[in-house]
Amino acid sequence: MRILLVEDEPDAARMLAKGLREQTYAVDVAGDGEAGGYQASVNDYDLIILDCMLPRKDGFAVCREIRAARSTVPILMLTARDVVEDRINGLDTGADDYLTKPFDFHELLARVRALLRRGQALRPEIIRVADLVIDTRARIVKRSGRRIEVTAKEYALIEYLARRVGEVVGRADISEHVWDESFDPFSNLIEVYVQRLRRKIDEGHALKLIRTRRGEGYVLTAGSEETGE
Ligand code: CA
Repeated sequence: MRILLVEDEPDAARMLAKGLREQTYAVDVAGDGEAGGYQASVNDYDLIILDCMLPRKDGFAVCREIRAARSTVPILMLTARDVVEDRINGLDTGADDYLTKPFDFHELLARVRALLRRGQALRPEIIRVADLVIDTRARIVKRSGRRIEVTAKEYALIEYLARRVGEVVGRADISEHVWDESFDPFSNLIEVYVQRLRRKIDEGHALKLIRTRRGEGYVLTAGSEETGE
């Protein structure tokens, strides 16, 4: 899941981005309203966290622009004061939820999770693919009842593939939702991570769940089609 954080206060932005990355989200940070609006228009984010007081263009204007472009990306507004007018303004311009500063980071995470769930019609907390079980709340991966230790990035990748089980997921899609803007499209990072996941998830099992579709991408499936490589 890839998040755009639009926050002009460097310390707050750094802390939030760090905390969100620890939760396996890929995070891009924009330091003003203009940059935020631009990034929102060129990248396919799963969620946007938008401060309302921003230089160059305030959060309300950015939010209005995003909605005017017909994007339905979930938007969480951060308001500086608990002023009713700000909240109404935020919701009027198309934000899905708001949080008043100062807030508890865990509350922010809860709102983020709720908005991401709402973002897709079907977002089960437990995903099962054959004997692979992914608990998206606890971020635990198990196969045949045994827990598999995965890094934050490996987890983000397997969860992303699992949410689209049976679908071929291309490299561009993966890099856009699992990595942030620092991803180098010419690197073989995705292949490296897929190999690692295969070793952890498929090795020793007759049924290989992570398949390669040459020239197309990867698919996580329990189906009995060709096994790729
Ligand atoms: Ca601000």
